[in-house]
Amino acid sequence: MEEIAAFSSADADKALKDCERMIQKSLKSPIVKFLREHLEKAGCPVQDNFFKAIKCDKFHAGGYIPGEGIVVCGNRTEMQDDVNQAITHELIHAFDDCRAANLDWTDCAHHACSEIRAGHLSGDCHFKRELLRGFINIRGHEQECIKRRVLTSLSSNPFCSGSTAKDYMESVWDVCYNDTAPFDRAP
Ligand SMILES: [Zn+2]
Repeated sequence: MEEIAAFSSADADKALKDCERMIQKSLKSPIVKFLREHLEKAGCPVQDNFFKAIKCDKFHAGGYIPGEGIVVCGNRTEMQDDVNQAITHELIHAFDDCRAANLDWTDCAHHACSEIRAGHLSGDCHFKRELLRGFINIRGHEQECIKRRVLTSLSSNPFCSGSTAKDYMESVWDVCYNDTAPFDRAP
């Protein structure tokens, strides 16, 4: 769940085409298939055209737009792995949206919870990925990484800026970090 602004540019065509191709490949990956199966079981099936490549002007890799679909930022995803991870992250948001009828994205606690789960369950913060980003604090790195990224996402939510975001994140951390549905445990 991020704020996305899309705009077109001739230069972006190739990146978008590459991204579209990687999206199609990603739909065949076991984790994406698993999440789509569980979305269907929960009553919210998503078709292949739910996923789109766009150009983004923010630093996010993708976004989930409730009721519309998942976008992957062609200008922010270079490798297949980036696209798989972005789609997995956004599918966790779609799953949360589906299973909780009263989920309110403007509610800082709700949004924080879904970001914690998406960060944890998508592998956003696996060690190798953090190393590539230049963060090499090994002890506790995974949770620190998730927290950092949750706060980045929350910063685009006008209802939970600054220190409010951190307080909400900490208040729901344990419950949401340990909620690994639809997985038995974090993949
Ligand atoms: Zn997110």
